[in-house]
Amino acid sequence: MARYTGAVCRLCRREGQKLFLKGQRCFTDKCAVQRRAYAPGQHGQSRKKMSEYGLQLREKQKARRTYGLLESQFEKYFEMAVSKKEGITGENLLQICESRLDSVIYRLGFASSRPEARQLVRHGHFTVNGKRVDIPSYLVKPDDVIAIKEASKGSEKIKAVLDFTDGKHIPEWLSLDKNTLTATVTRLANRDEIDLDIEEHLIVEYYSK
Ligand code: SF4
Repeated sequence: MARYTGAVCRLCRREGQKLFLKGQRCFTDKCAVQRRAYAPGQHGQSRKKMSEYGLQLREKQKARRTYGLLESQFEKYFEMAVSKKEGITGENLLQICESRLDSVIYRLGFASSRPEARQLVRHGHFTVNGKRVDIPSYLVKPDDVIAIKEASKGSEKIKAVLDFTDGKHIPEWLSLDKNTLTATVTRLANRDEIDLDIEEHLIVEYYSK
């Protein structure tokens, strides 16, 4: 599937906040948002008041870039969120994004960023319910069991990631056994467990025009 291949730090600078797309680097003073706290490009430092539409667009872009999704995929998730019988559309949308396997792998600390999680999933390092799944967009369900593949546990890459993420807070909707590196999805995420500075109602307004 196609994906964004440009400079990722530029995306954070455009949204004016850290989207944590580069793992370890995001926690150092090399982070581009810390070094240049203004939008990229010629007009990056001009302060123009944003229109209502501009605010809605920016919020949609921020969410989409946080999860590393192309427009078409994000729109598909929005339609799924609208068609869900229960819940609030904006919250449903974020819940669907959180349920992607790459996002879950990141939340579990099996990867240091979502882009890294996507790559590790593609390389076949994880199983879901005992079967290898290499599709980052796979949507997990309650009772799914996610694990690092036995053969991958000794991989230097995986070991380095686990060292880096050791002590990371794991959300309550995921139950992780650190000894076996196996996790169960106990339920789907609630909005207050999704620690993202996103005003999802603006995204709903954007798509409702
Ligand atoms: Fe964003 Fe991380 Fe780059 Fe900082 S280092 S700008 S948080 S991707």
